[in-house]
Amino acid sequence: MSFEVINPATGEKEGEFSAWEDARIDQALEQAAEVAPQWRALTITERCELMRGAARVLRDNKEQYATLITREMGKLINEARGEIEKCAWVCDYYADKAPEFLHDEPIESDAGKSYVAYQPLGTVLAVMPWNFPFWQVFRFAAPALCAGNTGLLKHASNVPQCAQAIEAIFREAGFPDGVFTALMIRASQVEKVIEDPRVQAVTLTGSEPAGRKVAATAGAALKKSVLELGGSDAFVVLEDADLDEAVKNAVASRFLNAGQSCIAAKRFIVVDAIAEDFVARFKAGVESLKPGDPLDENTSLAPMARSDLREEMHKQVVDSLAAGAVNVTGCDLYENMPGAYYKASILDQVGPGMRAYSEELFGPVAIVIRARDEADALRIANDTTFGLGGNVWTRDSDRGERLARQLDCGCCFVNSFVKSDPRLPFGGIKNSGYGRELSHHGIHEFVNAKTVWIK
Ligand code: NDP
Repeated sequence: MSFEVINPATGEKEGEFSAWEDARIDQALEQAAEVAPQWRALTITERCELMRGAARVLRDNKEQYATLITREMGKLINEARGEIEKCAWVCDYYADKAPEFLHDEPIESDAGKSYVAYQPLGTVLAVMPWNFPFWQVFRFAAPALCAGNTGLLKHASNVPQCAQAIEAIFREAGFPDGVFTALMIRASQVEKVIEDPRVQAVTLTGSEPAGRKVAATAGAALKKSVLELGGSDAFVVLEDADLDEAVKNAVASRFLNAGQSCIAAKRFIVVDAIAEDFVARFKAGVESLKPGDPLDENTSLAPMARSDLREEMHKQVVDSLAAGAVNVTGCDLYENMPGAYYKASILDQVGPGMRAYSEELFGPVAIVIRARDEADALRIANDTTFGLGGNVWTRDSDRGERLARQLDCGCCFVNSFVKSDPRLPFGGIKNSGYGRELSHHGIHEFVNAKTVWIK
């Protein structure tokens, strides 16, 4: 068993790495368990200083890591640079804030003294995806390690070099061996790791089927889990929206990372009064995106990460067109380009019964659903099994806020597209998962909130 690195821009194989056998996995689990008591015995300030060091390593080698991301999963080089900077930010954020978030919390009771102490759970397994191959990992690792947990990473099979680079970053920053280990394992080997008594919890970012499987295993083993799964975020455009801003943000949100983001706006729910105008402007914006080498700063449309994902998404598009959706632009592969490029696309007149209406399209395809009015737009926005993020566009911010509170999702942005920020909690409801990452909420997911009561 091995991991193949295929450059998504060229389709060429750039490397191959062997998957670990059981004995090597056992060795890594043992090392994590052995170092855990020593790691949690450090003061939180000592752990946070090491995390600040990880931020420095990231910034010092930004170009190298960004290039690695682009070659392995295809995103535009400028977006990859931004990803590395954001990772450094989340490391610094928790280095600054973890001591305050995890400080003992005094509570008045019938005791002489009673309080909550936040203590690490132990070793946490992170099953992570390829779309933000550094960010998704640091978003988990920065709070979890500052809290005194040790981390194991099972990264997506198409980004093995990113996995190894992240382990090396922690080593270079001075973290003791075993505090953070990249396990070079396949998805089929995850169950055994979760069940292992040396592992106390698991977090997964990825698809719904993978989430269900990991949650079932964790549930059977009575281990804590956090799931950040897919989304099909609504982008509601009302008749009083600033259309220039809405369209600019619609293009940015949907086509960032070649559309492969869980919090990308996916369903553009537009009221009839401005629908024609919105679609015409959106089409012009989308058609201005140019595919090319993602290492070239002038390229504005990256390839998708893998050709199999492109084929699956194209099938969703073809089926939706057959069911009555209208092709505004794109909706096809590039015939004469190597790699996994897909045309920047818009499907209009999408409605119930079409795959594009109910399924997540994880690539550069925007879906327009027309609504009669505000109430109809809200109904459509909530007519989904997902519940990750949402957007509302209106010049009336009170109206926007009222709608934001009525959308069934983990976060809603008014007059901006959804983005993650270390200071704000991040996560979903319904089939988008459970639990929260980032902010003080994120660091409290993998700690034991222990009540201490002294007479
Ligand atoms: P997966 O969910 O299959 O992969 C995410 C991670 O989970 C990878 O590390 C993968 O390992 C692992 N994994 C997959 N199946 C299992 C399993 N049964 N048990 C344990 N671990 C598992 O995503 P894909 O790469 O296949 O992408 C498919 C779809 O997933 C996308 O089209 C999108 O809808 C969604 N997705 C959502 C993301 C998000 O940010 N929420 C990110 C990426 C994908 P391995 O790579 O070895 O299979």
